[in-house]
Amino acid sequence: MEISLRNQVAVVTGASSGIGSGIAKSLASAGATVIVNHSSERSTDEAKAVLKEITDAGGKGITYQCDVSKEDQVIKMFQDTVSQFGTVDILINNAGIQKDAKFTEMTIDQWNAVIGVNLTGQFLCAREAIKEFLRRGIDPSRSIACGKIIHISSVHEIIPWAGHANYASSKGAIRMLMQTLAQEYGADKIRVNSICPGAIQTPINKDAWSTPEALNSLLNLIPYNRIGQPQDIGNLAAFLASDLADYITGTSIFVDGGMTTFESFSTGG
Ligand code: NAP
Repeated sequence: MEISLRNQVAVVTGASSGIGSGIAKSLASAGATVIVNHSSERSTDEAKAVLKEITDAGGKGITYQCDVSKEDQVIKMFQDTVSQFGTVDILINNAGIQKDAKFTEMTIDQWNAVIGVNLTGQFLCAREAIKEFLRRGIDPSRSIACGKIIHISSVHEIIPWAGHANYASSKGAIRMLMQTLAQEYGADKIRVNSICPGAIQTPINKDAWSTPEALNSLLNLIPYNRIGQPQDIGNLAAFLASDLADYITGTSIFVDGGMTTFESFSTGG
């Protein structure tokens, strides 16, 4: 059984780092042409390094700077992608940030920044992707489906998280966005799913793994007793985007080493 994304074009938001970079490499190795999106000038070199790994391995793609929370920039990213590559087949809605604060001290700027990238950014990219899927229609030489969207959510889609109300709210909302889109566009053969990572070793959660003490305390939450890697998410993303997953839509899949089995109850609670 081979996972093939040949002839397909994938936009991966937030692909200059962490989980997005792992997904971009997985999709490229399955044959997709990948748009390696990032938001800041500062991360241009990282985005180029991800693209170089892709092209060195025989894959194809470009880097593209766009802040997914800005409507005009998202519209332009999709227009430019379609004019350069003909269409978009796969959207990986991955870009995300944290701005943590105790709830009573959380500023409106911290709230808006996280909702703006994590939720509004996923709305804007999904809207532009679906418009393009519908314009193109089904092309069996590319995929059985008209288009595929994978939202990168989190275990905090279902686990409340004190000190992170903005982040947990954005991830809880992604579940309803994903299921509503799957319902609204199922008849058009557009598949929409979420991947909910547990603790994956990336810069976003460096404090949780960069010292032996922090890592030990993190592992107490993970029955499988290891921290996840971006590749763990990339493997599932490539499968979910492929026709092998053609009957999977409207669901959240947790990739978390068992975190959502609530390890703290392992001795009887
Ligand atoms: P990361 O290493 O910090 O990478 C975040 C990526 O998002 C970077 O490429 C960053 O590029 C990009 N980004 C940030 N704001 C953006 C914007 N406005 N527009 C476009 N791109 C933007 O984080 P990560 O851990 O890989 O997280 C990726 C996703 O996985 C997030 O949605 C996160 O919530 C989710 N997640 C992560 C974990 C985990 O344990 N790591 C667990 C559950 C869920 P710039 O630097 O250019 O902004």
